[in-house]
Amino acid sequence: MTRLAICPGSFDPVTYGHLDIIQRGAKVFDHLIVAVFNNQSKAPLFDVHEREALLEEVTADLPNVSVDACDGLLMEYAEGKGAQAIIRGLRAVSDFEYEMQITSMNRKLNEEIETFFMMTNNQYSFLSSSIVKEVAKYRANISDLVPPTVEKALQNKYK
Ligand code: ADP
Repeated sequence: MTRLAICPGSFDPVTYGHLDIIQRGAKVFDHLIVAVFNNQSKAPLFDVHEREALLEEVTADLPNVSVDACDGLLMEYAEGKGAQAIIRGLRAVSDFEYEMQITSMNRKLNEEIETFFMMTNNQYSFLSSSIVKEVAKYRANISDLVPPTVEKALQNKYK
């Protein structure tokens, strides 16, 4: 049986923190789908296709990773794909409560699909897409926070 996991998120845009979780998750599962959620309530800077394209570029060297854009309920999506697991990254304690709520709700929706949490790599514990956007707006150096292609895309948005 192929072990399939979904790594969901907004990825607005993808950072080295996300990429670290994706790379580590891809070592444990046979296949990993990075699912870009089109959450309009978050007023994203990049539209869902731009976010998807950036993710495709930065994961191109990972043969068992694919990228998909989706709307709607994560658990319905995961079920439709036949996934066994959801992978989420955990940074500070502040992530914990939110993740607890979502995970217990997701378990109610489908208790066959497990959620796995991966602790952030220390060097990325304070890294988020929002911080990156904030810093990029002021043209500060973000080369150690995001891949070069994402840095270029941010520069274009804020030029
Ligand atoms: P969401 O809007 O669902 O929180 P994000 O795009 O912010 O989506 O994050 C997607 C996933 O990546 C989440 O599980 C989040 O905790 C994780 N993540 C984001 N940044 C980091 C980081 N620096 N280190 C580890 N995990 C991270």
